[in-house]
Amino acid sequence: MATINDNYLKLKAGYLFPEIARRVNAFASENPDAKIIRLGIGDVTEPLPEACRTAMIKAVEDMGEQASFRGYGPEQGYAWLREKIATQDFQARNCAVEAEEIFVSDGSKCDCGNILDIFGDNNTIAVTDPVYPVYVDTNVMAGHTGLANEQGEFEGLVYLPITADNNFTAQIPTQKVDLIYLCFPNNPTGAVATREHLKAWVDYARANGSIIFFDAAYEAFITDPDLPHSIYEIEGARECAIEFRSFSKNAGFTGTRCAFTVVPKALTAKAADGSDVELWKLWNRRQSTKFNGVSYIVQRGAEAVYSEEGQAQTKALIQFYMENARIIREQLTAAGIAVYGGVNAPYVWVKTPAGLSSWEFFDKLLHTCNVVGTPGSGFGAAGEGYFRISAFNSRANVEEAMKRITEKFKAS
Ligand SMILES: *Cc1c(COP(=O)(O)O)cnc(C)c1O
Repeated sequence: MATINDNYLKLKAGYLFPEIARRVNAFASENPDAKIIRLGIGDVTEPLPEACRTAMIKAVEDMGEQASFRGYGPEQGYAWLREKIATQDFQARNCAVEAEEIFVSDGSKCDCGNILDIFGDNNTIAVTDPVYPVYVDTNVMAGHTGLANEQGEFEGLVYLPITADNNFTAQIPTQKVDLIYLCFPNNPTGAVATREHLKAWVDYARANGSIIFFDAAYEAFITDPDLPHSIYEIEGARECAIEFRSFSKNAGFTGTRCAFTVVPKALTAKAADGSDVELWKLWNRRQSTKFNGVSYIVQRGAEAVYSEEGQAQTKALIQFYMENARIIREQLTAAGIAVYGGVNAPYVWVKTPAGLSSWEFFDKLLHTCNVVGTPGSGFGAAGEGYFRISAFNSRANVEEAMKRITEKFKAS
């Protein structure tokens, strides 16, 4: 008799987004004339940069010519893309990352989950709370946790709260943890990590033989020149960190699919016999066996991000979203609502007013302003009392939503 991976039965039933959809649909059917604006989306809205489109069109033509046709590419990605990533994203920031250490993939979401393939099952794992749900759910699927409690916290995981009380900085744990997921700029809180904060983590990881999974999907949204874009800007990070990057948010590739993971050659972890094993070798083996690379066409599109035009166009795209974030922050603040984030990240993290719970605020915003956001409690127990508003939207939608909110909240 075939059996299943029972760990899947421990998962919470993807409660957050289906519940949002249920409440929005119910409201919409009762109020067919309401013009609902959705500011809950974690997806980009603006079209692909022209440089990327032009490069992909040319790549399609390449595929139609005998001389330039490509079949299977290298599982790790084409050298021309890996070289550009290494020099422009890392070496230009004084990070000693080589092209060989870049593994091009079809997404950071996939890589964040797949990376667990090369680690043992007995590691102690720490996540922030609130958190990007992928880190938690992939560990549940891999059997690294027990069951979830009422708040959705899984037995066996170490939760590090990030709230206004600690200025949204993940505190260094007092206990020993082996694997740590950090995401900065943060989804959902929009918080950032300073150099000092990351150094404290790197020092902790090196002292304890831990590995940091550093998700830098939003690094391009950093506007403060003093903030690190990569964990490899911190001395010693090559000995304790794997970094995940994506073209999804900086170049609008959420539907096009291209990302990469950096595994430094110096990085090791323990085998059962106590010996040190290079993680680069294991990840290279894993990718070569289970992955056949990203399409040539898409890699040419990603390469164009590093051209002069591509750099200018992606910068303009990010500035567009960050202007949305500024409008959201300023308007909500003017309405007497406390906001965090949204300065170096496309997410504004709202403190729900008048002691409302995350879902109560969701309902209030939906019913009085016809605006949809994301309840913070959906990202973890410590997200209760907060609410995420995304800057990924058209200017007209952002302005209209903020007008409605300021009118309602200033009056009350
Ligand atoms: C959007 C996002 C990513 C990117 O995922 P892709 O699979 O590359 O699209 C990674 N991490 C976080 C926290 C994100 O919000």
